[in-house]
Amino acid sequence: MTLVLGAIADDFTGATDLANNLVRAGMRCVQTIGVPTTDLALDDVDAVVIALKSRSVPATQAVSDALAALAWLQGHDVRQVFFKYCSTFDSTDAGNIGPVADALLGQLGATQTVMVPAFPINGRTVYQGHLFVGDRLLNESGMQHHPLNPMMDADLVRVLGRQTPHQVSLAAHATLARGAAHTREHLKQLSADGVRHVICDTVEESNLAVLAEAVIDYPLITGGSGLGQALPEQYRRKGWLSEVSDPGRLAPASGSALVLSGSCSRATLGQVAHFLEQYPGIALDPLKLAEGPSHFETALTFAREHLAHGGPVLVYASADPERVKAAQATLGGAHAGELVEQALGQLAQILVAEGVGQLVVAGGETSGAVVSALAIHQLRIGDQIDPGVPWTQAPLEGRDAPLSLALKSGNFGGEDFFSRAFEVLKTLTKEQQTA
Ligand code: ADP
Repeated sequence: MTLVLGAIADDFTGATDLANNLVRAGMRCVQTIGVPTTDLALDDVDAVVIALKSRSVPATQAVSDALAALAWLQGHDVRQVFFKYCSTFDSTDAGNIGPVADALLGQLGATQTVMVPAFPINGRTVYQGHLFVGDRLLNESGMQHHPLNPMMDADLVRVLGRQTPHQVSLAAHATLARGAAHTREHLKQLSADGVRHVICDTVEESNLAVLAEAVIDYPLITGGSGLGQALPEQYRRKGWLSEVSDPGRLAPASGSALVLSGSCSRATLGQVAHFLEQYPGIALDPLKLAEGPSHFETALTFAREHLAHGGPVLVYASADPERVKAAQATLGGAHAGELVEQALGQLAQILVAEGVGQLVVAGGETSGAVVSALAIHQLRIGDQIDPGVPWTQAPLEGRDAPLSLALKSGNFGGEDFFSRAFEVLKTLTKEQQTA
């Protein structure tokens, strides 16, 4: 069984973003959490996206994680490999984009790859090799203050040049404007000159299609989720994709409905408030969790009562900045976060074992804690609820029906996200049952 695309993503939400775009453009997609250690059911899958946690780890670690992911993909006969990173090219002078791309090229026996971080509809463009966020250069966009990967230089040829001993050059907008064949010739010429990495301008969406077509035969391509959105059309033209009417098809949803929220971002706070106008919910307070088990027990009992009627019910630690600061001042920031993540992970474990089948989780770190508490290693990607947040399904050991799971990072989603998520799931699976 051949996989058309195997992607290696340097973080979890980036992986979901890419997988979501692939499904929307017509590919059936599974996202794995880490390199798979067990067999996956891949009969009706076109793409696998392996989510690593390698964006901010030392370069040697990022390289060995990426090579392990590549070994798995090569074992599954993958046609094209895609190294996915952030649209703001998050990295430091020590890596990790350059070292990982070099290692993957070496292992694949390829001599050149392209770098396409841009996604014009999301305001990320590249012109003359310079990355813009909206109308600002990357280094004036706020990214210069990023706590882990401050981006002080918008010139990506220069940025990548500091991360690799190999030659870096540019495919400029004027080249792309002349079409895929001309771009392919330009890349070939650069390759003959010894250029291994080509930063690609992307000013408008159509540039992504030109690039995807120009590099369709490259063993390795790299970039953001925007390039991902342009790939399926090219694979279809090649005849590599079978025609499926609904690549985001999921199994019928079952079980009761629960929302767990550990995100304190502004969007999530609005979503919590909106949900509570209509549905029951209970707050978790890290200060009370620190005092002993009774606070946790109260939340568990409350959730169980409402889940007995099918839910949805919300358990949330989400709190405004003052309350978060107060908890952190007493407990320390890391410990407060751990207490919340542990409690929400445990609630997920207990309540899913008792019959929750539809679970929405808010918060990036919180999602990580819940997924790990549930020992989930793979997600089938379904249709999206809001931009960037798809419903997914994960097989559960000892249960026939999969768990329907939506993992939302902080700032994503409209105000009615929580309640609408369940409505979307209902219509989505109802349509499919009658299809
Ligand atoms: P986001 O995606 O919005 O950044 P995350 O889940 O990644 O959300 O991060 C939120 C962090 O805040 C988590 O570590 C969570 O445990 C912690 N947290 C949640 N509620 C509280 C609270 N009331 N007090 C202190 N920390 C909290």
